[in-house]
Amino acid sequence: MTHFDYDLLVIGAGSGGVRAARMASGLGVRVAIVEHRHLGGTCVNVGCVPKKLFVYASQFDEEFRAAAGFGWSVSPPRFDWSRLMAQKNKEIARLQGLYQKMLADSGVTILESTARLQDAHTVQAGERSLRAERILIATGGRPSVPDIPGKEWAVTSNDMFALEKLPERLLIVGGGYIAAEFAGIMQGLGVAVTIGYRGDKLLRGFDEDVREFAAREMSKKGILLLPNTRIDKIEKNDEQLTAHTDRNFEIAADLVLYATGRRPNTDGLGLEAAGVDLNDQGAIKVDADYRTNIPSIYALGDVTDRFNLTPVAIAEAMAFVNGLYGPRPTPVDYDHIPTTVFSRPNIGTVGLTEKEAKERYSDVVVYKTMFTPLKHTLSGLADKTLMKMVVRKSTDRVLGVHMVGPDAGEIIQGMAVAIRAGATKAVFDSTIGIHPTAAEEFVTMRTPSPD
Ligand code: FAD
Ligand code: NDP
Repeated sequence: MTHFDYDLLVIGAGSGGVRAARMASGLGVRVAIVEHRHLGGTCVNVGCVPKKLFVYASQFDEEFRAAAGFGWSVSPPRFDWSRLMAQKNKEIARLQGLYQKMLADSGVTILESTARLQDAHTVQAGERSLRAERILIATGGRPSVPDIPGKEWAVTSNDMFALEKLPERLLIVGGGYIAAEFAGIMQGLGVAVTIGYRGDKLLRGFDEDVREFAAREMSKKGILLLPNTRIDKIEKNDEQLTAHTDRNFEIAADLVLYATGRRPNTDGLGLEAAGVDLNDQGAIKVDADYRTNIPSIYALGDVTDRFNLTPVAIAEAMAFVNGLYGPRPTPVDYDHIPTTVFSRPNIGTVGLTEKEAKERYSDVVVYKTMFTPLKHTLSGLADKTLMKMVVRKSTDRVLGVHMVGPDAGEIIQGMAVAIRAGATKAVFDSTIGIHPTAAEEFVTMRTPSPD
């Protein structure tokens, strides 16, 4: 009989790998996990968690300013980046310890080394060669910077979490999630922020009204947006960086952040040795059960480059484990994935955009409202909120819900349950609101917007 050291060997202890390892071990499967950097992966160490802590830090500037409108006197506040970094590092170290403990308590063997496939059942982990009945690749992704002259002067999101001091002027290249989020963080912390992006709008894939409204609100806060702008070259003179654009002007900055997408971590993994197929973008190809073309090798999360979000990687891990070892399958619903960009303002969305809905159906109605949140009637801030619902007339089903404004992420999470449950507009209309909130607008929108 073939000898296997483990039933399941997981490569990568990020969001997906850790969940798969812990769950499988809990079901009596003999599991090892190999990690070469830090437990918790991108989300815990250089993604969601430290990012959100930075977002919180960045919001205080406006809170201090708003306080005056509510009768408070605040002496000029001062911000200390090194104190925030120390606090953030302490919390991340705590989380890493927690991950270590959770894995060990669930009986998972943790191997701290770089994994490389040798064949369909064998993984080289440091000095050791381990055989497993099944191998799960959950190695995530890493920032991708286009190959332009001077790219060595640019930093990526990874570096932003280890920055020693704040720049005075930051140029962000790219117009996606990371660009929008770091623009809000840095602007809130007092940095002069410019975003240069190649498209005509930020955040491709989001609803068009959302994209326009969010850009307007970001501009109002003082972020300089440069659409249709390509950076051809970066030069460094002393400490100053100069980005040369294709539009015949230059941008001076102390720091240039490239937020131009991420690439799956497949290099050096030995995928050729095992014969695992990749798609054109270099992501691992899998079927509906997360199986690659090699029957004993599976992959999920960002390394498959589909919906690169932590809750998706976790849901895939649960579906993978339940499908193979669990009592019943728990397939992932890829049609209703809610998401939030933690920019300032927040952008929350679930379901179809207006454009997607109209491409699919001929009877789409849209409800839209834009208003000043109650808080800002006294805060002195000019922030506005946008809420939007996309509905199919013939079935009354709500196809999409979109919001730009404070706490959009918190609000849209609840909306996602309703959408997933198939709620109709009539259900929204007959739901009692919570007054006074912004969220109640979603149950009080009665008049469709003109086409
Ligand atoms: P990862 O979490 O990337 O884990 C992969 C692990 O594999 C890493 O620890 C890596 O070191 C390890 N590894 C790689 N190769 C090897 C090897 N050969 N041997 C051993 N170990 C290896 N998502 C959200 O849902 N919400 C957010 O707010 C959010 N914010 C983000 C902010 C930023 C700045 C970034 C970059 C991402 C953010 N994401 C967010 C995305 C989220 O972090 C990822 O979707 C998620 O971490 C993917 O999980 P994963 O398990 O696929 O991979
Ligand atoms: P995104 O895919 O969101 O955005 C990439 C941006 O870079 C786009 O504006 C894209 O332009 C632009 N771009 C791509 N290639 C080039 C190039 N060669 N030159 C100039 N511009 C280029 O990637 P991010 O890096 O912002 O984030 C990666 C992923 O991580 C996200 O897609 C998301 O899945 C996840 N994430 C999730 C977060 C959350 O849930 N809150 C937060 C942060 C990340 P164009 O649109 O024209 O292609």
